[in-house]
Amino acid sequence: SLQGKPAVVPGSTSGIELAIAKSFAKDGANVVLNGFGNPEDIERTRSGIESEFGVKAVYSPADLTKPDEIGGLIALSVETFGSIDILVNNAGIQYVSPIEDFPVEKWDQIIALNLCSAFHTLRAAVPHMKANGWGRVINTASAHSMVASPYKSAYVAAKHGVVGLTKTAALELATHGITVNCISPGYVWTPLVESQIPDTMKARGLTKEQVIEEVLLKAQPTKEFVTIDQVAALALFLCTDSASQITGANIAMDGGWTAQ
Ligand code: NAD
Repeated sequence: SLQGKPAVVPGSTSGIELAIAKSFAKDGANVVLNGFGNPEDIERTRSGIESEFGVKAVYSPADLTKPDEIGGLIALSVETFGSIDILVNNAGIQYVSPIEDFPVEKWDQIIALNLCSAFHTLRAAVPHMKANGWGRVINTASAHSMVASPYKSAYVAAKHGVVGLTKTAALELATHGITVNCISPGYVWTPLVESQIPDTMKARGLTKEQVIEEVLLKAQPTKEFVTIDQVAALALFLCTDSASQITGANIAMDGGWTAQ
């Protein structure tokens, strides 16, 4: 069990990372939450985790595109819980545009959030994990870390980059009891996916059902979305002793997408 272990889960005010934070808390971990959102909703989430699972949960408002603020996020775990044992990267955003029209500031923002933030959190967390002789780093990549789709240049580049960072860190930390892995989901039903539907309906003149069947789940052979709880269950498994020899891996959970 993760009883008393401190886990930092950036981007956990919503979606996949929130489900991961809750599954860790359910197993006894103390969690550092982070992400944007309405302060009252965030406080409800934080206190809900404490009361439901009997653990401690704190919240950091750090903007993960700002390296200085990321230092503060890891420091909050060290100050509050004495260390950091588990790190889950990374919050991510998407932007869809042909390369020649891709706004430069969107490119910079996606690379900063989806790729660079994972480097900055790792850099700050590794000394503490080495001192403990134990650590688990889980990077939420994507099927787009293995294959590409048109018009998602920044996202696909960042996700491929996360895999390279994961492999490098896994090798550097292999003899320290620290594993570093990627989970690569296909389409998961979250606000990130839901928010892409109206634009795609408009752009392609399709109904919501058509967007889901013919666009979103086109590449996913099972024709079903991955659930956030399935991703969280895999993240929890990667934290167990049974998973101590899984490191540097990029584990697909994509309904067969990348088997094609
Ligand atoms: P989401 O939109 O539900 O959550 C994103 C989180 O990131 C939110 O908590 C948001 O507040 C936070 N965030 C955004 N910008 C931030 C910033 N600058 N600083 C701090 N926090 C910030 O997204 P999700 O679907 O749960 O995605 C989580 C991760 O999983 C992402 O890396 C995404 O690329 C990846 N992923 C998602 C899917 C999917 O289908 N949803 C598939 C594969 C991979």
